[in-house]
Amino acid sequence: MDNGGFVDLSHFGAELMLAKTLFDYGARTPVVSALCGIKRKTATRIYRLAQEQAPIKGMLPWDPHWISRSTINNLHASIFLGLIQDYVSGRANGTELGLQFCNAYMLYCSIVAHNPKPCSREAGFEHHRVLDINRAWQLTRQFHASALHFVMCLCCQSRFLIPRQENQQAARCPVCENKTGSVARQHRISRPFSQNAGKTLTICLDRF
Ligand SMILES: [Zn+2]
Repeated sequence: MDNGGFVDLSHFGAELMLAKTLFDYGARTPVVSALCGIKRKTATRIYRLAQEQAPIKGMLPWDPHWISRSTINNLHASIFLGLIQDYVSGRANGTELGLQFCNAYMLYCSIVAHNPKPCSREAGFEHHRVLDINRAWQLTRQFHASALHFVMCLCCQSRFLIPRQENQQAARCPVCENKTGSVARQHRISRPFSQNAGKTLTICLDRF
């Protein structure tokens, strides 16, 4: 029997609602197809009905080194994957995984939208959402494949991401690393640290 591309009609409503929510957050059809457990053609049909236009074609964002490209990237990826680590079961699959992923991304959006002091780069994104939902899915797959790991920063005790190949005993997170570098630079130009202490983090983040 043709079930319209849905794997299990008993989950039709849940999959449809999940697909609609994911599309509203900018998810591409391959991502929706994977997270809802529906065929690509079905995801495309839902997109056309919900958004009244054809979905975007082309490659999904794929950069295995994205978290290492800037402090801000690492910060946002660490916030999101921290939620994935805490709230998404490693055993979840099908619609359950899709719902948990979607809830984690919505929570990430809510957290970053309330950033009282976004840096210039964050301010350039709608609601300071540096991490696009499609890249969030890519990072989740890397994380579940153990290509990314969390380690604890010895300075601020926050957890941050590093690639599998890197030394897992890394001492400082990128923010503290930049903060230290910034302080060293400030000493080199003979300015008292106390004058800059309150601004250091903002200055550092503004640079990325
Ligand atoms: Zn730190």
